[in-house]
Amino acid sequence: MLILVLNSGSSSIKYQLRQVPVPDDPLRAADGPQSNGADDGGRVITGGLVERIGDRAAGPDSVSDHAEALERIALAVNEALDGQELDAVGHRVVHGGERFSAPVLIDNEITRAIERLNPLAPLHNPANVLGIRAITDKWPALPQVAVFDTAFHRTLPEFAWRYAVPDVLYRNFGIRRYGFHGTSHEFVAHQAAKLLGVELGAFCAVIAHLGNGASVAAIQDGVSVDTSMGFTPLEGLVMGTRSGDIDPSILVFLARQGMDADEIDDLLNRDSGLQALAGNNDMRSVVESAEAGNHRAVLALAVSSYRLAKYIGGYHVAVGGAQALVFTAGIGENSWQFRQLVAGRLSALGIKLDDDANRKRSKEPRVISTADSDIAVLVVPTDEERAIAEATAAVVVSSR
Ligand code: ADP
Repeated sequence: MLILVLNSGSSSIKYQLRQVPVPDDPLRAADGPQSNGADDGGRVITGGLVERIGDRAAGPDSVSDHAEALERIALAVNEALDGQELDAVGHRVVHGGERFSAPVLIDNEITRAIERLNPLAPLHNPANVLGIRAITDKWPALPQVAVFDTAFHRTLPEFAWRYAVPDVLYRNFGIRRYGFHGTSHEFVAHQAAKLLGVELGAFCAVIAHLGNGASVAAIQDGVSVDTSMGFTPLEGLVMGTRSGDIDPSILVFLARQGMDADEIDDLLNRDSGLQALAGNNDMRSVVESAEAGNHRAVLALAVSSYRLAKYIGGYHVAVGGAQALVFTAGIGENSWQFRQLVAGRLSALGIKLDDDANRKRSKEPRVISTADSDIAVLVVPTDEERAIAEATAAVVVSSR
């Protein structure tokens, strides 16, 4: 099937046109990637990024709105399709709230339901809805599927998703932990279980998705039982420009110093993390500076690897003993130095890295621990577009 995957942000749309195999057991496949046994991830036909939406002043590359961005994407996609017909569009939707625990076929009611979640993800869901509406206007008959970043974490037990705050905050505003990066964690969990030859339903692991945004997930018997991001993607690990966990009283303190909500939001989401500690949000540069002896870079690596190691230790307990620790996303897949730092803090868990395997570059899922490591350490490349395309194909087939 030919699936267009759209990741529609407020000022950019990322897209990928993919050919995926028709799932032979769509109902099972819709539960998660590869669960129908197929290992054929299909192929990418074309893809790209349209940026600077709504910023006419930005120059000739900019477009005025999502509809115009989509026109540009449609041109590129039509050319690549070369006369073939598109089967469906799969949308990455950031927030599925408490309602959505699996991918769904989009209709007007679903679009409105996603829109009602806008207050929970004000930067993301409105843009996702714009993308959905732009496709509906352009190709009204084309099936569209929403794949939610929060859905995989709908299995968290209440004791993991509750904040210890008055219930009225949950009832009136939906303030609870939701978790994000679910599409990636789910995809990687399937791949890791397969690599180790373990049934997904019996697989316990800790997955570290380390990109510009970063989160850890605790996987018990194949499902998510805890994750480090919470009400928003700010909670948890030290990230490129996000602080992760801090004492919430700091916000109150800053408000009393006269900072307003937008300023605090910017401070913690855009000016913190590696950027604040090392003066740079790119892990490659931070590692290089640290190797050259820059104190701030060394400290940034220490703070971020220490925080991550604490989460891994905690989640090892949460899942009743992990069989695997899995690294994924830009940093997790590529930075052997960061993996080494984190693993070095985990010797109490009996984790031992195979130094050669850890340093080796590869695009394949692989084991990087020694044979006598108590917990297998894996690197598994994530592919959110593939996961979204496969989930979309499965939903479309099962709805026919
Ligand atoms: P996102 O999808 O969240 O924007 P990515 O998964 O692409 O992010 O990860 C981006 C991060 O990965 C950046 O911090 C970047 O420095 C890091 N990264 C990418 N390639 C390498 C590499 N070869 N070595 C170290 N870090 C890398």
